[in-house]
Amino acid sequence: MTEQAREMQQMTMVLEALREKPFDEFPLESDWDAVIIGGGPNGLMAAAYLAKAGLKVAVLERRPEAGGGLATEEILFPCYYSNPHVLYHLMVDYMPVIRDFNLDHHAIVWIKPNYQTGMVFEDGKSLLLTRMVADTWDSIAKYSFKDAVAFSKVIRTWQRIVSEIVGPATYLPAVPPMELVIALQRTDIGREMLELTERSPLEIITDVFENDRVRALMLYVSCMWGLDPRETGIGFFVPLLLDRGMNKCYCYGGSHKFAGALVREIVAAGGTILDAAEVTKIIMQNGRTIGVETSEGHTLRSKVVVSSLDPHTTFLDLVGAENLPATLKEPVEEWKYDKWSFYTLHVATKEPPRYACDDPWVSEAFMTLFGFESTEQLLAYWDNVVAGKVADNFGGHATCQTFFDPHLSRMPGEHVSSFQMHAPYEIDDGWDKRGKELEEAILDKWQRVAPNMKRENIIKTVFETPVDIEIRFPNMRRGGIKHGDYNPMQLGYFRPNTECSNSSTPIDGLYVCGASTHPGGLVLGGPGYRAANKVAEDLGVKKWWTPTPEMERYTKTYLE
Ligand SMILES: Cc1cc2nc3c(=O)[nH]c(=O)nc-3n(C[C@H](O)[C@H](O)[C@H](O)COP(=O)(O)OP(=O)(O)OC[C@H]3O[C@@H](n4cnc5c(N)ncnc54)[C@H](O)[C@@H]3O)c2cc1C
Repeated sequence: MTEQAREMQQMTMVLEALREKPFDEFPLESDWDAVIIGGGPNGLMAAAYLAKAGLKVAVLERRPEAGGGLATEEILFPCYYSNPHVLYHLMVDYMPVIRDFNLDHHAIVWIKPNYQTGMVFEDGKSLLLTRMVADTWDSIAKYSFKDAVAFSKVIRTWQRIVSEIVGPATYLPAVPPMELVIALQRTDIGREMLELTERSPLEIITDVFENDRVRALMLYVSCMWGLDPRETGIGFFVPLLLDRGMNKCYCYGGSHKFAGALVREIVAAGGTILDAAEVTKIIMQNGRTIGVETSEGHTLRSKVVVSSLDPHTTFLDLVGAENLPATLKEPVEEWKYDKWSFYTLHVATKEPPRYACDDPWVSEAFMTLFGFESTEQLLAYWDNVVAGKVADNFGGHATCQTFFDPHLSRMPGEHVSSFQMHAPYEIDDGWDKRGKELEEAILDKWQRVAPNMKRENIIKTVFETPVDIEIRFPNMRRGGIKHGDYNPMQLGYFRPNTECSNSSTPIDGLYVCGASTHPGGLVLGGPGYRAANKVAEDLGVKKWWTPTPEMERYTKTYLE
């Protein structure tokens, strides 16, 4: 038989098969146990636990592929990939999902570099925060022996606060503030944490360290995810973010690999992922949620709906203000979005950045800060951002991503780096004009500390402004990377409000699981894990997973 005849025969077979069984379109109406809105890390985690528990689960994701912040994209098209959102994984040591699903099966490899955060100054000096306390000690001692001793003393206590309290509590129900205060009084370390909580990051850092550059590094690492350095009542973040800032991981192959593993777990357990499926309505009947509608006109009826979106989208846009109890409407309307967002510059280069400074390891650090010469300048810059300005006093953090993951460049020997800085959503002159100007200013500043970052070394650039973030993810309103500000009234039991912080809402059948829910944003995995627990309990489904040993110890010590 000729090649042409064989093709004709195959074509005839296909046409016959189609005549017998037309395409199975996704039904316009379908029934589910749990519909999850949003396929970001939290939505995927909630779905994976529930699907494996035997529930019929559908994840609806607006973008063409699931992952949300867990994205790895050919953003420097063609040939160069970058992790435009989640690059630094802070909670790998604690996230139950990694152990429960044995994600090693998906060849997920976490790289935890020893040189975690470098800081370079224009006079060629540097500082280095490393995984190993002893190495950090050496670096701080170049500036102040007293600070090196103070660091090694406080970090041991702070690491205990994280491993015994904040880490495990991330995956457990939020406790009302008075109950939490009484519970934490039970131990020395709990009392220490309460004392810290009452203070501001700036007070804590200024108290512990005397050298201005050491203070600037510690303050940046403590507040870089959007904390107001002068705000009291949030001091427990200092131990958390410093410890995690010394233990952050890179997901080898790109952050999207983590999302891919979760997607495969959901599908293997019989769940469904609908990409390019935007939810436009949460359907209400007699005061309870009975399902969702999509922009394509599909109706998915479900016993429960779990939303990973921000409070405005979930409650005002999808449920509708008219369906909300008054007790919920007011806190949702008053929800405050993040004080600042990020501007990111992605750069493909012929050579990786080489920092001209007194410590060769800085060029190998996972994150390198530059642009800030003093604490005063850092504070002044953050004040500018809150006031909607980006002035010449800016600084930020950079990572050569290909140093940890050569896969990201398809051109052998060439590199992908990114630089990120805090930026306001609304800016004088608008981002259309300022975006490009800022790119030039960043490259100038980068070259001052890494001389090989001259224009001849640069192959391609692309920047992403706070407005671009919102275009990509409308749920990251105002470019808010945590779906809402961190302040004492929007944290813990108050996140997103007292009625919803434990995943259920006053609306029957509706649950929340995104970054705006306790414990909050970044890829902590807390909101998704906790929502899965709550839904399983409410639907009377047997949990196939058990709490981690750290969570059990925390529960015994503080909650029983
Ligand atoms: C520039 C930038 C850098 C960041 N860097 C880090 C980092 O290094 N480390 C870190 O831990 N975190 C980082 N974050 C924060 C992190 O990305 C988020 O906090 C995290 O992704 C929140 O997870 P989530 O699942 O709650 O929500 P998301 O990741 O926002 O996922 C929500 C999903 O819902 C989808 N969606 C929206 N509307 C609808 C709809 N109507 N119907 C269906 N689907 C919808 C969205 O497309 C999205 O996929 C960064 C964020 C940004 C923007």
